[in-house]
Amino acid sequence: MEVIRNSRVMQQSVKEYIHRGNSIGFVPTMGALHEGHLSLVRRCREENDISVVSIFVNPMQFGASEDFSRYPRDVEDDMAELRKAGVDILFMPVAENIYPEGFATYVNVEHLSDRLCGHFRPGHFRGVATVVTKLLNIARPTRAYFGQKDFQQFLIIKQLVRDLDIDTETVMCPTVREADGLAMSSRNQYLSPEERNAATVIYRTLCEAKEMVISGKLTPVEVKSLMEKTLSAVPLVEEVQYASAFDPETLEDITSLNVTIYRKKNILLAIAVRIGKARLIDNELVEIAGIKGGNER
Ligand code: AMP
Repeated sequence: MEVIRNSRVMQQSVKEYIHRGNSIGFVPTMGALHEGHLSLVRRCREENDISVVSIFVNPMQFGASEDFSRYPRDVEDDMAELRKAGVDILFMPVAENIYPEGFATYVNVEHLSDRLCGHFRPGHFRGVATVVTKLLNIARPTRAYFGQKDFQQFLIIKQLVRDLDIDTETVMCPTVREADGLAMSSRNQYLSPEERNAATVIYRTLCEAKEMVISGKLTPVEVKSLMEKTLSAVPLVEEVQYASAFDPETLEDITSLNVTIYRKKNILLAIAVRIGKARLIDNELVEIAGIKGGNER
């Protein structure tokens, strides 16, 4: 595995692979790799000639009171995992290389960036959109791989790729979970054993809500209060930031499943909570076509 720390060197290296006709797959990460990241890496390897992974804890996407300085970093283990996975290039720049002095250009994806997590993390998605745009310009991948766990992030990246004519196919991969359903996340490391146990309520709530929607017992509109109630019943859940059903294209609240208003096949059930020092998110897509009350006429 070649380790590249400089964006110009990276661009040069990629240019040569492209010149030789190779397809390039890319997985951007912030490191502290777990099975969720590695599932993207495996898919990337399967579908491309050359696999590129980046590790960059992007300061621009963290708010002043957020966890940038204590975000888990484990470069040695990460490198060993990526080598074992057969990755061709690891791009691991320092912040000064990505944001040199005088840096002044930002990418802002309107509307989508203000909803859900954007409401609680102002400026977060501007930081994500800016760094991902830069990384896609540096690695020039044929395909780039992202996890469904960060569904809003994926939508925003898909939108910026389309709006800015970036020649990359964006691929969303399923969320990888622990045995008890908790979505794998580098931030799970912040949890004490009791908090880790309490965090299982997130996926439980998503499953319960999904079941209620599919069985037609509750409409997606009604399911919001059930989700909030289930999450709030766990004392270690300090704050429920959002827990509801959303339109998976616009991220707007769903107000009706009437077919003239809601023409989509799916709804998104999504949650963000704070437990201890961790802010945790998760989501599930639910197919509503054909279910009772789904796209009712
Ligand atoms: P991060 O290092 O948290 O920025 O994540 C890098 C990529 O891995 C993003 O596309 C995430 O959506 C994805 N990812 C993180 N956790 C998981 C998971 N549990 N399952 C699948 N993909 C994930």
